[in-house]
Amino acid sequence: MGKWVYLFEEGNASMRDLLGGKGAGLAEMTNIGLPVPPGFTITTEVCNLYMKKGEKVIEELWPMVLENVRIVEEKTGKKFAAKSGLPLLFSVRSGAKFSMPGMMDTVLNIGLNDETVELFSKESSNPRLAYDSYRRLIQMFGDIVLDMGLQPFENELESLKAKKGIKYDVELSADDLKELIKRYFDIYKKFNKEFPQDPFIQLRMAIEAVFRSWNAPRAITYRRINNIPDDLGTAVNVVTMVFGNMGDDSATGVAFTRDPKKGDKGIFGEYLVNAQGEDVVAGIRTPKPIIELKKEMPAVYDELLKFCKILEEHYKDMQDIEFTIEKGKLYMLQVRTGKRTPGAAVKLAMDFLNEGLISEEEAILRVEPSQVDFLLHPRINVSSKLQSIAKGLGASPGAATGKVVFDADLAAKMSDEDVILVRPETVPDDIHGLAAAKGVLTARGGMTSHAAVVARGMGKPAVVGAESIKIDLKERLFTVNGETVKEFDVITIDGTSGNIFKGVAPLIMPELSEDLKNLLSLSDKLANIQVRANADTPEDAKRSYEFGAKGIGLCRTEHMFMAQDRLPAMQEMIVAETIEERKAALEKLLPMQREDFYGIFKEMKGYPVIIRLLDPPLHEFLPKREILKEEISQHEKNGEKDIAEKKKRLLRRAEALKESNPMMGFRGCRLGLVYPEINEMQVRAILEAAAKVMKEGDRVFPEIMVPLVGHINEIRFVREKLEEVAKEVILEQGIQIPYLFGTMIELPRAALRADEIAKYAKFFSFGTNDLTQMTFGFSRDDAESKFLPVYLERGILPVNPFQTLDRDGVGELMKIAVERGKKVNKDLEIGICGEHGGDPESIAFCYEIGLNYVSCSPFRVPVARLAAARATI
Ligand code: PEP
Ligand code: MG
Repeated sequence: MGKWVYLFEEGNASMRDLLGGKGAGLAEMTNIGLPVPPGFTITTEVCNLYMKKGEKVIEELWPMVLENVRIVEEKTGKKFAAKSGLPLLFSVRSGAKFSMPGMMDTVLNIGLNDETVELFSKESSNPRLAYDSYRRLIQMFGDIVLDMGLQPFENELESLKAKKGIKYDVELSADDLKELIKRYFDIYKKFNKEFPQDPFIQLRMAIEAVFRSWNAPRAITYRRINNIPDDLGTAVNVVTMVFGNMGDDSATGVAFTRDPKKGDKGIFGEYLVNAQGEDVVAGIRTPKPIIELKKEMPAVYDELLKFCKILEEHYKDMQDIEFTIEKGKLYMLQVRTGKRTPGAAVKLAMDFLNEGLISEEEAILRVEPSQVDFLLHPRINVSSKLQSIAKGLGASPGAATGKVVFDADLAAKMSDEDVILVRPETVPDDIHGLAAAKGVLTARGGMTSHAAVVARGMGKPAVVGAESIKIDLKERLFTVNGETVKEFDVITIDGTSGNIFKGVAPLIMPELSEDLKNLLSLSDKLANIQVRANADTPEDAKRSYEFGAKGIGLCRTEHMFMAQDRLPAMQEMIVAETIEERKAALEKLLPMQREDFYGIFKEMKGYPVIIRLLDPPLHEFLPKREILKEEISQHEKNGEKDIAEKKKRLLRRAEALKESNPMMGFRGCRLGLVYPEINEMQVRAILEAAAKVMKEGDRVFPEIMVPLVGHINEIRFVREKLEEVAKEVILEQGIQIPYLFGTMIELPRAALRADEIAKYAKFFSFGTNDLTQMTFGFSRDDAESKFLPVYLERGILPVNPFQTLDRDGVGELMKIAVERGKKVNKDLEIGICGEHGGDPESIAFCYEIGLNYVSCSPFRVPVARLAAARATI
């Protein structure tokens, strides 16, 4: 193990693993010349060692801490545990590699005791500040280091304020604070604990407490939710205290170098005059917007602007900073990459690209596919008549509807229902409730309050600081403007506007912003794998085209037959007892199909459209047998003989088509091999529609896909028959129509024999829904509700293979199919049209094995476009 302790000037931004995010930021700011109070960082390695070996590690660490304290004393000209002069005080702050908001602990004002507090009071000529700092130390030390909790201290503070008849902490005088300190020490007695008067013992115990807090339940929960490994450990930062509560020329605040909600330029933040950092983050006092600092302290404001610009240009990204102003002097206490809403992420990526600060590739990597997904989430339809019952700050955009729940435990328990967590304010202990809820509403706090920060990070809607709602936790209800909302009543919150509605509000789908469109065009430029859509209707096709699909990868024709006006003809076809009868029924379906295809071709404006021949078992088009039986007896009772007879025929056919295992039954190409007339009608409809489009002067490129092929003879027989139809139509229409025949690869046998199959297929499309089903032997209709949850919970499988491709098994078959298929036809066009086509992880795999495109539902197309580019980069 290398060095254990680093002075800020010894570290830099690249040392996040060792110094944690906060430590690396403090080091980097120190080195680029920004005013950071002197201090040092104990590495994450020491934390990990402490977890293994305990107390012994502190013994070994201690002389190094003392040496660094001595150096800081020299720099500041102050003494820790001073006997005279202004005493040096420290804050001890945790800081892991990844920011974990509010998860770990901070202790301020270390170094104060009964003696140094007097020195501090005298030398600063500010007794109130001295005693307030001391009582904060005693409180934090009791809460965080000695595990006594915050509540006993809060209770004393409230009771003293009540006794004095005052509302705000700042109204407490130095004498009041002395009295409070006495009361605080009584609490220690009650707990049988002692407050260490020796500053060095305070420091040592605080460092140990930070190490321990790495394994506090709330930190573990946060790591689990955010996939942060448990063995990273936290660093400990020991920082010289500066005071934002030294009077009206002092302040503390937080700022983002740009707006984290919309991504707009200009610093965005809040500050509190005469306050300490915790007051801002805790959301207890309502801070002022940063722009007011321009009026109150113009010189400091200008300096802050300058520092923000330096930091942005240095880090080439939007930063989130904490600062303190002590008697007019600005200190930087933290810098980190700012969390942002998905909308802001897109805007910031494009702005930084346009400002020449980052490359095109970097811009793509700045936005997660899940953020694009979020942008396609519903919003509340503002033109609806629904009246909002209250308004707070829209802290994290998107709309959510759910049952009101007043505590985090209950929200977590109800995780399979849609709930909105409603709290006066949230604290880190509420994290499991926030994770389970669809959205969060708080009565107090600002844009940087805990609820706001955490919700933004999780991409969930949040409305905070809705001060007009009065929450009664005992009665479990809230009231607002004469309305009462009880626990389990349904509300809708709009995290964009901050509005709160009773009941379910109508939602609309959002438009793609200009920035998002540009980001996605850039994605298309950089991606080496295309994105198509699964679309069954002209409307779906239109949406797919608008969302940027470069074709249709799967048009499932069966949905066209399900429509009410078509089902009777389809049923006639199924119950037909002779070829003639069947052909007559198909004649009725032909014009309908032709019209569908024509509409789709027109919408896709010449991009390829893959149309799949009928796939599902025929019984899916017939009414359920039990229902038919009931209807027949009803018709017989009513004396409606003819109708009863017709239905009996349907019933007989349904009985005949009954299968014990329909998913592995009479479906896919098997249908067309037994009843070729169905396929013939479909091919005719496709090509006649294509001819019509071409005659209108538009381009068209149909690809005809045969489903569920497993054996070379299946595709060969189907295709030979259908090529005849194609020739016939082309002759009739007198126009050369470009078209391809291809197949789905959705059976393991098809993957293994892909070289043979490629002789008869110009394209392959992986049907990974069936391929997953058939490879695992898991029913795609039942597995997810029966045993898969248990598999995932127990880690038998790492992820749901119906959502994310199983690279090792299903993926291996795909690889084999690609290799063998391309050996026979190097120009074979290969794509995927199972659900996995919209999953970023699976898209990356498809790119790796050399697919030409992925195809997914229209709403996933933008997500897939970004994921395709990220896979390529
Ligand atoms: C598949 O099996 O992956 C596929 C796309 O076809 P379907 O879902 O219609 O069976
Ligand atoms: Mg399938």
